[in-house]
Amino acid sequence: MSDNYLVIGGEGFLGRWVVEMLLKRGEKNVSVFDIAQRYFDKEVTYYEGNLSNYNDIDDAIRKSNATSVIHTASPHYGGAPKELFWKVNVDGTKNVIDSCVANGVKKLVYTSSSSVIYDGINEIINADETTPYPEIPMDVYNETKAKGERLVIEANGTNGLLTCAVRPSSIFGPNDKQFLPAALNVMRQGQTKFQIGDNSNLIDWTYVENVAHAHLLASDKLFDGSPVAGEVFIITNDTPVPF
Ligand code: NAD
Repeated sequence: MSDNYLVIGGEGFLGRWVVEMLLKRGEKNVSVFDIAQRYFDKEVTYYEGNLSNYNDIDDAIRKSNATSVIHTASPHYGGAPKELFWKVNVDGTKNVIDSCVANGVKKLVYTSSSSVIYDGINEIINADETTPYPEIPMDVYNETKAKGERLVIEANGTNGLLTCAVRPSSIFGPNDKQFLPAALNVMRQGQTKFQIGDNSNLIDWTYVENVAHAHLLASDKLFDGSPVAGEVFIITNDTPVPF
């Protein structure tokens, strides 16, 4: 039986890819919850609200009759005051979980980040899902993404809710408004003349379509007895590139 999907943050870069992929494979019940509407499709029901307000998200979960919630929302990395990261990534994620539990939602997929295991000092090479969170997180983004992820994983099994988290590394692809525009800006301003280090540092990038696909697979594989429930998954394109 197919699900009723609610994509939280579905007006954003990744969230929109998730929405389009759901529509493309023929899903009939796709809704979006976001703080600002940017896309206007006939097939998608849009709920406007702020994740940090329980009633906003609870309304959307109830009215959309969601059976699968895909939570991609977060403030931009580095682009918001510290308190906002706590309000959205931790309090907001808790609101999502509480509402899913209260409304008997079956599945919750959380967009985490590979940065939850990075402390900003020690290199991470060939990490896997057993790599622990650092004792001291690098910054408030990493810390709050990790806290949100942990809350989601701990909620697995509560009132029948099945959860998992997807950890992409830096995402690239069409409609990216973060990394590519910033990189182009650096080039336009001629700020590429200096190199820090010997160019041997690697960073993992993940193509946005692969990340969106991972979210759909994660949702599809959340069923009673599934080994996916209660787990985190690192998503990668396989080959890291020089940073
Ligand atoms: P984005 O900013 O394009 O999309 C986020 C969406 O969430 C936006 O539409 C925004 O309006 C919405 N949102 C933010 N705060 C909200 C709130 N309080 N209530 C309701 N909606 C709210 O970001 P993105 O690049 O698509 O990132 C999506 C997810 O992927 C995030 O959780 C991010 O942490 C994670 N992630 C991103 C990258 C990357 O390189 N972009 C890498 C790893 C993980």
